[in-house]
Amino acid sequence: VSGAMTKNVVLYPGLGVGHLTPMVELAKLFVRHGVAVTVALVEPPVKAPNFSATVARAAANNPTITFHVLPPPPPPEPSSDGTPKHHLLQLFDYLGAMNAPLRDFLRSLRAVDALVIDMFCVDALDVAAELSLPVYYFYASGAGDLAVMLNIPSVRAGMDTSFTELGDAVLSFPGAPPIKASDLPAEMSKDSEASKAILRMFQRMPESDGILVNTLESLETRAVRALRDGLCVPNRATPPVYCIGPLVSGGGEKAHGCLRWLDAQPDRSVVFLSFGSLGTFPKTQLEEIAVGLERSGQRFLWVVRSPRSDDQSLNELLQEPDLEALLPDGFLERTKDRGLVLRSWAPQVDVLRHRATGAFVTHCGWNSTLEGVTAGQPLLCWPLYAEQRMNKVFIVEEMKLGVEMRGYDKEMVMAEEVETKVRWVMESEDGRALRERVLAVKDRAAEALKEGGSSYAAFVEFLEDLES
Ligand code: UDP
Repeated sequence: VSGAMTKNVVLYPGLGVGHLTPMVELAKLFVRHGVAVTVALVEPPVKAPNFSATVARAAANNPTITFHVLPPPPPPEPSSDGTPKHHLLQLFDYLGAMNAPLRDFLRSLRAVDALVIDMFCVDALDVAAELSLPVYYFYASGAGDLAVMLNIPSVRAGMDTSFTELGDAVLSFPGAPPIKASDLPAEMSKDSEASKAILRMFQRMPESDGILVNTLESLETRAVRALRDGLCVPNRATPPVYCIGPLVSGGGEKAHGCLRWLDAQPDRSVVFLSFGSLGTFPKTQLEEIAVGLERSGQRFLWVVRSPRSDDQSLNELLQEPDLEALLPDGFLERTKDRGLVLRSWAPQVDVLRHRATGAFVTHCGWNSTLEGVTAGQPLLCWPLYAEQRMNKVFIVEEMKLGVEMRGYDKEMVMAEEVETKVRWVMESEDGRALRERVLAVKDRAAEALKEGGSSYAAFVEFLEDLES
């Protein structure tokens, strides 16, 4: 892209592996287009699983990208009544306190042409305004999710009940299939401080100069049209939306033992179960999954974490699970010829792209969704937290690239459902048809990213807009 050679952008991914990983892919895209990139990193307040490892790997693999760790803010004041704040509020406080170090860092750079921020880094809008820097979002979820969430502040303002009270009532949003109130992010309950913080996040998003979305436009045409037609944000202009994805990490953890295990399995024979960077289940649910997998008779690769107690401490995720104690008696022994259980973490992208993998039971995090689809894997959707229930609606109803695991919204997904859906996807004609649909999208996604493709063109258009 002519003229872009002198450009210099700073990417600001905020917190969380699921936000950092695609931002690193975006950094690589900038570099490929001749733009110099610095990723300004925020050190997690607690030792988050795999964050440091992800940073170290990204830095080692991408010497052309500068990674700069911002100095952490002073520890927060303890709350006046002694009760810990909602984890989302802690997150916003922490990121808000990062404004000063971010501002100092941006000022220290010789020239910056734009700041690209994660959706949670809403306060960084103030830093950009103060420094008169163009500011763009890199939205790490889909266009459908963006369409709904941008619309939420105005919908919420017109309601006198909470979304929670609406229960299973079906809501309609421009650009989206019907969505149950209960499928909105759980934090959207009545007037809680956390829900206000989320509303504010999306209320302020239109202040930006544009939104880069990690999606393939042809997968989400309805939502993209609604966004571009300004239907999602009434009463003010929606910034330009650029669909530049799917940007997915390349994997490359060749040495992991589970990949050797997969090497010994037949083509497309293994169901992979993995629930994001944070997903956990109680022991009773782990047992149901185990029984279902055993009865299905199918091969499986399953990532199991320690159950989390109510205080939701992230540190507990660091504890290695005791598989013998968590899973039914004798399960590991009885299934050892056709199943492998991994503790806490898998090299997910490599597993999904392995020829032996044949289906993906996923929590519907957006990165996992894109990683599954670009690997040609049919999705069995088991949403857990954040915007994942909404993603499930888009995956199942709109994109038709997966089916839901019934019971995800109740107490439990029963063993029978695990068995039935696993058999369905691996053995039935309909399961095969689903895989064919995903494989077609996989090809379309690869085309979109090539020169001349829609995502490539959208990124070039963004660079041109940045130039002017
Ligand atoms: N991931 C992984 N191994 C695991 C679990 C997760 O490599 O065992 C990666 C996964 O490939 C994805 C990211 O962690 O890139 C999770 O992001 P996603 O948006 O799917 O979910 P989140 O963790 O943000 O809920």
